[in-house]
Amino acid sequence: MQIAKHKAVSINYTLTNDAGTVVDTSEGREPLAFIQGIGNIIPGLEKALDGKAAGDQLNVIIAPEDGYGLRNDSLVQTVKREVFGEDMELEVGMCFRTSGGNGPEVISITQIEGDQVTVDGNHPLAGEALTFDVEVVEVRDASEEEIGHGHVHGPGGHEH
Ligand code: ZN
Repeated sequence: MQIAKHKAVSINYTLTNDAGTVVDTSEGREPLAFIQGIGNIIPGLEKALDGKAAGDQLNVIIAPEDGYGLRNDSLVQTVKREVFGEDMELEVGMCFRTSGGNGPEVISITQIEGDQVTVDGNHPLAGEALTFDVEVVEVRDASEEEIGHGHVHGPGGHEH
């Protein structure tokens, strides 16, 4: 069976960034399970997997535009330390989940200088070309329920 829209797909993968550093991998975990064609995974990887079958291996380089997007400098802001509350210990690299709106979902602290804290709302992989080493483990039809929920059930997917 070939990968196409609304197939439930399981893959083993290793993701390497521009610098050649492994930033994510399924090694040591369940394969990643997702539904093809509905944006569960980044667009570039969906495109590369289309038409592939179980047992296929591929190595693809995905441009930032088809990955986590280009970096947006307007998402980098400097705020006063007091915004975070007096009791909070701040460190470079800390991440915060923000509450809704149209802004970024996760911001991270990239610099602290005295009273000034620089935060960055870009995805950590924004602007990076992504190299994926992928092995297709399984391809099957997604159930109506899975398509309705927008995710795969069972191992590597949602358990509920
Ligand atoms: Zn579900």
